[in-house]
Order: sequence, then structure tokens, then C-alpha cells
Amino acid sequence: MAYSEFWNPKNETLPREELHVLQLLKLRRMCEWAYANSPFHRRKFDAAGFKPEQLKTLDDIRRIPFMTREEWMDSLMEKPMFGDLVATDPINAIRYHLTSGTSGRTPIRVLDSMKDWDWISEMWCYGLWGFGIRPEDTVYFAFGYGTFIGFWGAHYACEKMGALVIPGGAQTTESRIKQIIEMSATTVCSTPTYALHLWQKAREMGIDLAKESNVNKVICSGEPAGSIPAVKEQLQEAWGAKCGDTAGMTELGTIMIFECSHQPGGTHIIEDHFIEEVLNPASDEPVGYGELGERVVTSFGRGFIPVIRYRTKDMVMKVPASTCSCGRTWAIVREYGAIDEFQIYIWRKDNLQDEITINLEIKPGYEAEWPELGKKLAKDLSNAHEGLRFNIERMDHGYLPRFELKAKRLVDARPVAQY
Ligand SMILES: [Zn+2]
Repeated sequence: MAYSEFWNPKNETLPREELHVLQLLKLRRMCEWAYANSPFHRRKFDAAGFKPEQLKTLDDIRRIPFMTREEWMDSLMEKPMFGDLVATDPINAIRYHLTSGTSGRTPIRVLDSMKDWDWISEMWCYGLWGFGIRPEDTVYFAFGYGTFIGFWGAHYACEKMGALVIPGGAQTTESRIKQIIEMSATTVCSTPTYALHLWQKAREMGIDLAKESNVNKVICSGEPAGSIPAVKEQLQEAWGAKCGDTAGMTELGTIMIFECSHQPGGTHIIEDHFIEEVLNPASDEPVGYGELGERVVTSFGRGFIPVIRYRTKDMVMKVPASTCSCGRTWAIVREYGAIDEFQIYIWRKDNLQDEITINLEIKPGYEAEWPELGKKLAKDLSNAHEGLRFNIERMDHGYLPRFELKAKRLVDARPVAQY
């Protein structure tokens, strides 16, 4: 059957002037909703002298005060359990989730309504459909299904699109591999590191996933490795499948960017539902295409928790939509273009605790990005893997081995387990 390439053909190809009109309308509505219903936002808007009716052009977004994770945390501390950011009575919630609480960070508690969940899965539909998932697909979720939001939205998106969903929660890696093969799964959703682990485990079991599985798409989310070209290359080779990157934040509840099936070396921003500003972190002034800056996100969905001008501290670079051949008019964001090669090294400290060291090399000419990049990578990784510690080390260019075929980017130096 011939399907459209787009989940929402109209909005995904909207001329940018019309897109900006739509964004302005949605921005004003979200600010009105937040001002009327969220004490957190009302307080901040009043302090900044901002009123939603001041939004006459998209550029007026700069009148809106930023919100930070620290402010959100303070509000949770002052008004347990959910703070005063929530814009409606908690009785209207149907689900509770947590951001991961690694590196001593207190997790943020979030609530969502039925309508919010509809929106959360809709965002995933854009991304999954855009990478080529169709009703004929069988999608395997190598995911724990806990309070961490992870792939929950993707699960519902696949149901919405009519694909067959296999929820692979609470199982050993071995049994997941067996199910992927037995059920002829065509798509696997996983963090990139776990997708590599599945492949490595399969090899130990004498299974070549590229030959013996039916998987032709691996959807990565939840950690940065999926946007590092070398990791993606290895995943594609290991699985004999196309590997697509998506990314979001628990603070948003869903994904905000996705890689389309044309794989332009970056991810499209879902611009009819988000505004992603890229700002010079020192001056807070917007930077142009191709320049590195801090990602500041505004979401038009999730009525329970209005996220408006949220400072992510992520360093990213925007490039125009024309960089991609798919026809979407949505701009593209690049996160880890500066990383040239990497190796994941797992070792055991004092014979007790597992540690993970990521050795990486920066592309020549991108050295200036290293200090920010190193910090962001450590933060993203610890957010993605609860309870694990990551050490990031930069190697001189050319230090790490290059592999022609079977890359050994995952080195497990732990002693064999003895029980
Ligand atoms: Zn594209």
C-alpha cells in the first residue's frame, strides 16, 4: 500500500511564513492558559511585566521570562508533591512519571492528563512514521516500562499507527533476543547503548542479528549516542538495519526532534508543536543557522505542565530544513556533530562497582566545542542510565582504533562474574 511519507502532510510541509503564524497563535494560547492556571507562570510573568497579549510577532517570545530546572525544583520543594507549575487539579491526571534521579539530582515528578497523553503519542507518531514505521511493522520495545517515561509514548504511537506492538519489558536480554527473532520483529526501539548490548549478547549466543533477525529499523532514544555518527554507523552494521535517532526530555513528556528516513545527519524539530530557540548562553541573543548555542524549548502541548522558554543547558546547532531532501519545512538540529570517534569502556572499580568510561575524539576544527560538549554528554548519559556513573575522556585525534568492518566500540573489561 502506498502511504504518504508524512504523518501530518499539511503541517510538515507548511511554508515557513505560515508555520510562524501557527506558532504565534499556539504560543499566545499556551501563555494565556499558563497565566490563568499555573501560579508558577503567573508569578514569573508578573515579575517580568509580561502579558500574553504582548505577543504580536514571534519575535516577542523574547519578552517571556525563561524558566529553569532549578526554579521548577524549588517549586516542588515548597509545595510538595507537584509544585505550583501544574495548571489543573491533580485529580485530572491519569499518569505519574519521574525524570531519572541520577548524579544526586532530585527527580522531577510529573503528571499528565488523558489529553496530554494523546499529544505525547502524537509527537512520537511524527517521528516513527517519519522514519518509515507503517501498519505492517512489528515493533519490539526493549524497554523497562517503569516510572521513567522513556518509550511509553512510542508504544502508544505504534498502536495509533496500527503497527503490531511487542512490549518487551521485565525480561533478560537473552529472552528479548529470542522474542525479536521468534516474532519476526521488523523494528526495535531501544537506547543506542542497549541496542549495542543486544547485538553483543546475540553474538555470544551464536546469533547474527543482521542475518537472522527481520529487523530493518532500530529507533534510538533516551541517550546521546544515537546522534553520534560513529555509534549509528556501528548500530546499522550490527543489526543490518537503518538506525534512526529521536530525542526529547521527561520535562516535555515526549520527543521534540526526530530523524527522518532520508537521514540528513540531524533531526527535524517538530515545529508545529515546539519552538526551539538557540541562544548565545552569555547574551541570550539568538544565534544564526550553523552557530552553536543553548537550546531553549517551548512546548505547545502538555496542558498539565506548561513548559515555556525552558533553558535546557544543551548546546546545539540549527541548520535550515533545506539541508534535508525529504521536503519537510521543519528546521534541523545537530547535537554531536563534533564527535569523530568513540569507544565505550566498561570496567570494575575496586572489584565492586561498575564504571563506564567513554573515550572520544573531537573532529579537527571543532576543538573549541569540547568543554561544553563533554559536560553535556556526561549529563545526558547519566540522565539516561539511572545508577551508572560515566567518565568522559577526550583522546587525541587518531588515538582510537578505526575499524573497517566489525567495530569494537564497546569494550567490556570486567572480570567474568563468579557466583
Ligand atoms: Zn528530512
